[in-house]
Amino acid sequence: MIIILLGPPGAGKGTQAGTIAEKYSIPHISTGDIFRANLKEGTPLGLEAKKYMDSGALVPDELVVRLVGSRLDEPDATSGALLDGFPRTVAQAEALAEYLAAKGRQVDHCVCLNVPDEALIKRLSGRRMCRECGAGFHVDYSPPPADGRCSKCGGEIYQRDDDREATIQNRLKVYHEQTSPLVEWYGQRGLLRNIDGQGSVEDVQVRIFSALGA
Ligand code: AMP
Repeated sequence: MIIILLGPPGAGKGTQAGTIAEKYSIPHISTGDIFRANLKEGTPLGLEAKKYMDSGALVPDELVVRLVGSRLDEPDATSGALLDGFPRTVAQAEALAEYLAAKGRQVDHCVCLNVPDEALIKRLSGRRMCRECGAGFHVDYSPPPADGRCSKCGGEIYQRDDDREATIQNRLKVYHEQTSPLVEWYGQRGLLRNIDGQGSVEDVQVRIFSALGA
């Protein structure tokens, strides 16, 4: 089973991903997480990606496609994968379809989480993360512990550089210009599952599983 999680930044892709991946026993592959992990390690990939991430721009297609291709070749992904934050351009979607077809595989569902821009800005500007385990918090909806340490692993809670006000606007612009054409692209192929991404985490989860027929 290959599932794509599509939606603007802050729509809740990362929040929903774990449950979906667990349900289908497939790995959760987030390109953003891979870039952040590489940046933390100071690898050449991380340093290259940083040039784009800091302004909210997209990392070049060629680099991302190569990265995801090799990740999908790993043994745990032979039975499928949950792709979170990839593809983000039509060129990436085409490259993915070609790559999978060459291996007799294909995308099964593209789950698109829909949330209006005003709500996204509120969600992203209040978002906080654990530097160690990636756990998510929100200053209003799910406040991190007062001591600034993660309640799950004790790691440092921080605000992603690209979750700052100026960058958020650019990420939304980039989404509308470069990523939202994928809604039509997957729609034309009968793979799009449109989900209302507003409401509680549990409500959205129920909608996703119902759309997937699970
Ligand atoms: P995310 O955690 O998914 O919001 O991704 C954070 C940043 O990583 C994005 O703003 C991009 O700069 C970069 N990135 C992640 N996935 C992709 C992708 N599929 N294509 C291009 N850039 C990406």
